[in-house]
Amino acid sequence: MQFEDFVGQKDIISVLKKKLAEDRIGHAILFCGPNGQGKRTLALLFAKAILCLEQEGSKKDGFCGECISCKKVDKFIHPDLLFIAPQGKSIKIEQVRELKKELLFKPGEGDKKIFIMEDVHAMSNEAANSMLNILEEPPEYVVSVLLTSNLSMLLPTILSRCEIYKFSPVPPKDMYEYFKGNINYNVNHIENDINKAVALSGGRLAKAKMFLENDLYKNQEREIIEAFETFLDKKNRLALFEWAEKLAEKTDEELDMFFEIFTLF
Ligand SMILES: [Zn+2]
Repeated sequence: MQFEDFVGQKDIISVLKKKLAEDRIGHAILFCGPNGQGKRTLALLFAKAILCLEQEGSKKDGFCGECISCKKVDKFIHPDLLFIAPQGKSIKIEQVRELKKELLFKPGEGDKKIFIMEDVHAMSNEAANSMLNILEEPPEYVVSVLLTSNLSMLLPTILSRCEIYKFSPVPPKDMYEYFKGNINYNVNHIENDINKAVALSGGRLAKAKMFLENDLYKNQEREIIEAFETFLDKKNRLALFEWAEKLAEKTDEELDMFFEIFTLF
């Protein structure tokens, strides 16, 4: 996948490419947007472009996809690319301490070391305070790429040190074109399903894919439509109780999915 193949966020990509081409990459980048819009995927493409060994001249704003560095990023084994995600419900102080130790070592293969931190809003207070000096006075070779779906939960002191990129909902037209142009989807799914997936996705490609790929998701949708019909038919109290019982029997995964779809109606 190249930057051009990424669905949505064209404005952000064009700014990032310009910065890559001009060697003006900031020390702390923050991607913000609802889950399912590809923050992690775009962070990986950006990291790949920074680390690519064949990025001289006109290729500087992208990556070759072929060099040893690009291949290592694809396999998640690049020594200069680190990932941090919540352990359990939060990012803990020990994880930030460990990260700081790692960042003291200079890059092993190129001239940059990158870490991608997912769900930064889930940092404990201690972890967030400890993060501050990575963002304030990073070693000159460090690029931090922070991802969040909840900007309002971040300390202002963290926000003020980051270049913030707010993701926009993916235009339905772009999503539709993606599915029509992708053999995995255009062969196995009828037009009506694709239209429905795009409409239900709320501008999130991952949600639309999940809808098409996951029967459980579709079944949940069917149940929600039934639930609405039950609610509208106020005289049918028995059906309402039956429906409530059905809800109580769901697994956590089913419940999460159920309410997620519910909010889209
Ligand atoms: Zn490369």
